[in-house]
Amino acid sequence: MSRVLLYDIEASNLSGSMGYVFSIAYAIIDTDKLHKNWKKMKRGKGLPKIHLISVLNTKGGYDLKKINGRGLISDKEVIKKFAEVVTNEADLICGHYAICFDHKMINARAMRYGVKPMPNVKQYDTWLSARKNHKLHSNRADAITEFLGGTEKTRLKPERWVKASMGHIPSIKYIEHHNIKDIVDLVKMFVNLAPYDPKFPATQVFRGKCPVCGCDKFKKMRFLSSSRETYKSHQCSNCGKWVKGNRVESFVHKM
Ligand SMILES: [Zn+2]
Repeated sequence: MSRVLLYDIEASNLSGSMGYVFSIAYAIIDTDKLHKNWKKMKRGKGLPKIHLISVLNTKGGYDLKKINGRGLISDKEVIKKFAEVVTNEADLICGHYAICFDHKMINARAMRYGVKPMPNVKQYDTWLSARKNHKLHSNRADAITEFLGGTEKTRLKPERWVKASMGHIPSIKYIEHHNIKDIVDLVKMFVNLAPYDPKFPATQVFRGKCPVCGCDKFKKMRFLSSSRETYKSHQCSNCGKWVKGNRVESFVHKM
């Protein structure tokens, strides 16, 4: 089983030393079973269950007495819970611009609280994947999903951020709602972008199953060569991903 954890954070600031994390939304996909729901998911349907960890639903995250007295909102439990989920339930984590922002933001907040580091699971970033492998007018999540047939994302009102930063509950809930909708777009980006990415971090070596969608039917095979070897390459009949197979020949470099 290969579990891909798709996640997105909402934070009060672009820096972990100046702000905190309101919430982290995530969904877990088992790539072994993904081909069964593939066509639906490409259109943003048949989604996995979306979870939300927020300052409003974690212990000590939002304490009215403390807020009134000392102005405290704590994201410690949010960070701790998410680190536990990554530790126990993920073989690969995926986000949009997450290698550059979300992951670092979580690390900064974890270090601040002394929360233990997350394990070094492989990462796949849909922003990097879109930028490297496609020529789109913009690599923003809403632009990509719009291009793929419609986005869930709506523009967040800046005033809501200001109010949420001050502990205004309806504004934090409004941000949570956006956080969940971002996962809908993220799932759509994942299933559309991953088959085109030759650097997609396979969570398993080729054992007759596609690492992106889990399909065990391959419609094409051809030989490919690098400077060191010749190997078989198989194309998944469901998502079209080319998967590296067995080596068939080694080249010996002559001096
Ligand atoms: Zn596939």
